[in-house]
Amino acid sequence: MTTAIDHLAALTGYRDRDLLDVTLAHALMDLLSPCSVQVHKLVGEPGQQRWLLRARLDEGQVTAVSDPPWVAFEDLPARESEPLREQCVESQAPVAGVRGDRHLLLLPLFAEADAIGAIEVSTPQPLPEPTQRMVNSILRIYRNFHGLLDYSERDTLTGLLNRKTFDEAFLKTAHAQNPAAGTGNGERRSEAPVPRHWLGVVDIDHFKLVNDRYGHLIGDEVLLLVARILRSTFRFQDRLYRFGGEEFVALLRCTSEEDAASAFERLRLNMETYGFPQVGRVTASIGFTEVQPGDAPTAAFERADQAVYYAKQHGRNQVCGYGDLVRRGLLKDSAKVGDIELF
Ligand code: GH3
Ligand code: MG
Ligand code: MG
Repeated sequence: MTTAIDHLAALTGYRDRDLLDVTLAHALMDLLSPCSVQVHKLVGEPGQQRWLLRARLDEGQVTAVSDPPWVAFEDLPARESEPLREQCVESQAPVAGVRGDRHLLLLPLFAEADAIGAIEVSTPQPLPEPTQRMVNSILRIYRNFHGLLDYSERDTLTGLLNRKTFDEAFLKTAHAQNPAAGTGNGERRSEAPVPRHWLGVVDIDHFKLVNDRYGHLIGDEVLLLVARILRSTFRFQDRLYRFGGEEFVALLRCTSEEDAASAFERLRLNMETYGFPQVGRVTASIGFTEVQPGDAPTAAFERADQAVYYAKQHGRNQVCGYGDLVRRGLLKDSAKVGDIELF
């Protein structure tokens, strides 16, 4: 009993979702002593989801393994390629099975109302009923805690992250940034692609007019659809925020300035060509900047925002890169990181 309570304390002690899943795997491993426990989550847009391994512990293993954080979406197994997991998620109920001489118990992982993944416990013997009930109770606590995290970290209208978690995620990114890659001039001398990160600010054009003409409810629906377009345009690992009102922020990983520019251009085009019910065409102006080593969140945001301002002043419905504008002498460089002058 004490062990179970210890695990629950550990489970609710983290605000980091990665740690939450790893802690869940450890808790189940300690409590059930199975041959293996795996936490899988569905990622991607409805209709084309794939399985991401969040944590896997095998008997005797101390450290959980998972899919790498920047795994390519196409390399992940398709949702329907795992029939037992699929059945578990569809029915939102436990599913029992066998694999070789092992007994499998799959349990749905919930977030809010829907199942978002499945836990796979493999044991030499089927788990007795009371044990299954205990596991279910732990999963209920996981679900409630997940709900609390979502409530505090996500925007209620769009489900995107809210501003609260931005600074922390940004600083982690800036810290991970390779100094050699961060010259800010878009040139890369080394052959091996070094991960670089980009911050984009997306501001809907003339959104006040949408509200004025069609009302706030339709305005809200546009915001909801823009969030959906953002999700479907970028990779599932990219971090997407609604910063307030009609302003969105994306923190992307791309290997070059050209890649970042074309990702934001894809977003611009996806918005321009989307048929918004009643409203029709809605466009956005987008500014982006590279995250520098040691960058401050406010400084990077300010740079991207200056690029948005430039886009607004020059016809809207366009993507402007801060670095590019500075190089072309169209923006005065105001960016300093600590006491290192950029550009
Ligand atoms: P610009 O092209 O220069 O960005 O013009 P704009 O009209 O988009 O920008 P402005 O900042 O003048 O107006 C933003 C509007 O966004 C004003 C406000 O009514 C609307 N807005 C802010 N938050 C919400 C919201 O949560 N729901 C709805 N429906 N509208 C919102
Ligand atoms: Mg605005
Ligand atoms: Mg606007």
